Amino acid sequence: MLGASVIPISGGNTKRQIMILQDFGPTAICCTPSYALYLAEQGEEIGVDMTSLNLRVGVLGAEPWSETMRQEIENKLNIKALDIYGLSEVIGPGVAMECEEGRNGLHVFEDHFIVETINPITGEVVPNGEEGELVFTTLTKEAFPLIRYRTGDMSRLMKEPCRCGRTVARMARISGRSDDMLIIRGVNVFPSQIENVLLAIEGLEPHYQLIVDREGMLDTLEIRVEVSETIFSDEIRTLQNIERRIAKDVKDYLGVTAAVKLVEPKSLQRFQEKAQRVVDKRHI
Ligand SMILES: [Zn+2]
Repeated sequence: MLGASVIPISGGNTKRQIMILQDFGPTAICCTPSYALYLAEQGEEIGVDMTSLNLRVGVLGAEPWSETMRQEIENKLNIKALDIYGLSEVIGPGVAMECEEGRNGLHVFEDHFIVETINPITGEVVPNGEEGELVFTTLTKEAFPLIRYRTGDMSRLMKEPCRCGRTVARMARISGRSDDMLIIRGVNVFPSQIENVLLAIEGLEPHYQLIVDREGMLDTLEIRVEVSETIFSDEIRTLQNIERRIAKDVKDYLGVTAAVKLVEPKSLQRFQEKAQRVVDKRHI
């Protein structure tokens, strides 16, 4: 694609990564959009002109991102930022991707996957162009094929040929989820997984709240958990130990870093029907 050499970047030492970008001059970068922006910011901070690198294209995905964010990445890194889509159950990134036309939908690699969109409530296939939940069937995957696998991701399909000349179906960028899954720094997190971690720790009440935000360009997760009266009136050190334990367990089991705050009994809002445990303050 675009005759590019690709350098995958996922965590590690940022300064070193910027040095690699400078010294080896790759023309493409593949990471999450927020990490691309983070690199741009870090570059500025250490005095590297990130627009003068050899980079020409960013293959970015694994989290929702807005057109504003795309524009910002394109300006700060002087690249064309393209969206890539995939899910680990299928093959990871590479199920669909934007072509060099950009902003025109993501081409689904239909020689490997059959794509459908369904009404998430009735399961009925929706007409092309209408929003529905993406469903994939793998055609070439060995050992672990998937048949009509529901992704939980909402999108629209476009079947008319693209301006680039390709005739495979295109999907619009993901507009949301049909379930309550959160994507935090590219990691899929279900509130129920956090609940399981909390329930395994003694003295915690089953009331918690997850606050997701974006600081600078990176997602943050705060977990507020109610503790019993006895624990809450205990020494600060005891509370801090529990907070550390929760943060460690969440990191170990789910792979995400969270700030944990223990709160007084009955201080979190109660809900009569479905609990609103997640407050997502990110404006994507
Ligand atoms: Zn195209």
